[in-house]
Amino acid sequence: MPVRRHIAVAGAGIAGLTAGLALTKAGFEVTIFEQAPRLDEVGAGLQVSPNAWRVLEAVGVARAVEPVSVEPHAIRMRRGRDGRTIARVPLGAAAIDRWGAPYRVVHRADIQSALARSVTAAPNAELRLGERVEGFRREGTRVSVATRTGTQEFDGLIGADGLWSATRLQITGEAEPVYSGKVAWRATVPATVLAGDIDPFETGLWLGRDAHLVHYAVRGGSEVNIVAIFADHWSEPGWSAAGDRREVVARFGAWSRLARDIVAAPQSWLKWALADRPPLPRWGSGPVTLAGDAAHPTLPFIAQGAAMGMEDGLILARSLEATDDVASAFRLYENRRMRRTARVQRDARSNGEIYHLGGIAAAGRDAALGLLGPDRLMARFDWLYGWGQQT
Ligand SMILES: Cc1cc2nc3c(=O)[nH]c(=O)nc-3n(C[C@H](O)[C@H](O)[C@H](O)COP(=O)(O)OP(=O)(O)OC[C@H]3O[C@@H](n4cnc5c(N)ncnc54)[C@H](O)[C@@H]3O)c2cc1C
Repeated sequence: MPVRRHIAVAGAGIAGLTAGLALTKAGFEVTIFEQAPRLDEVGAGLQVSPNAWRVLEAVGVARAVEPVSVEPHAIRMRRGRDGRTIARVPLGAAAIDRWGAPYRVVHRADIQSALARSVTAAPNAELRLGERVEGFRREGTRVSVATRTGTQEFDGLIGADGLWSATRLQITGEAEPVYSGKVAWRATVPATVLAGDIDPFETGLWLGRDAHLVHYAVRGGSEVNIVAIFADHWSEPGWSAAGDRREVVARFGAWSRLARDIVAAPQSWLKWALADRPPLPRWGSGPVTLAGDAAHPTLPFIAQGAAMGMEDGLILARSLEATDDVASAFRLYENRRMRRTARVQRDARSNGEIYHLGGIAAAGRDAALGLLGPDRLMARFDWLYGWGQQT
């Protein structure tokens, strides 16, 4: 009987857990090291586009996530200052018809816990919380991974340890992430607080000069997730920090009444200094590679960071199934992923510029979007959301 290969994963975010789960399903032994002592609620909402939903189906957690998610009928884009509709992108049945899977919105914690439950239920997986990966060393074709409890040898290491990835630092030696000059404020409120004001089956995307606002239902429709993004010099590194409600309310003070009501609804906010890094020419060598934000940190203006991490997980498992040599499998995986994730990173950056236009440029953007119509608006996402339909 062939020896079962044992793969280590650094990080139990969406990317690490998806990779871990996909690998256990493909018959590998998996150990996931997570520095945090427990998986928390931080992160608020995630839009799970059809390409990502297809991954959840493939790893067997879509059914668990479905009841706690919401399937919006559309994304409505509006002008911040007066609430006028700029364009409406149909989702719901139209998304399934076009991209072969639903477009859903969900709380990050609900996906993370569904993935973690499946990982811990698998006999060939181990999730070691409170155990930070300190570094790794190549040992011939294998890799030894150091944590506070000692070192252990594995057949491969996947660094899924996020934007400040220690695994990536050891591979590339590169410097700090690139701060975007924009900060995201995130909050959730009970749906009852905004009942009557917003359609719970529409994702709202409001655009204004140097700022935009996003809202959608999560937790099966019982809560609304609100994200307010605006230009700011604050750039404290870290996953999130508490934000002062008065600051975000003041920032949207000149917007339409409804936008102001949405921003005024939460009593507490968390804020993130948004950063990314340019696409890398290589993600690893030998039996070491990267996945998720560690490999391709992406600004949220395309709502694809977690989605790309999920896709990575599935392709990692498929590549490892395709060849017995872990290093070759990792290079195959990188070849399959690098061009697509780099395009997503670049598009996210340019969307950030386009969303935050003001004056005549914003008027031109709005007119162009309005003229496109639903079919052409949807067609712009075919390359992204249609991924995996034939694989
Ligand atoms: C405002 C905002 C909105 C967003 N909206 C969307 C969206 O709608 N859709 C979407 O797809 N994406 C969205 N994203 C992006 C998405 O949140 C991230 O891309 C995704 O969560 C990254 O997942 P990850 O697993 O790669 O990294 P992380 O979630 O950062 O997970 C990394 C994990 O590794 C652990 N770790 C770190 N270092 C070590 C170590 N040395 N050893 C062990 N463990 C370690 C960390 O504790 C963490 O648990 C959004 C992001 C923001 C900021």
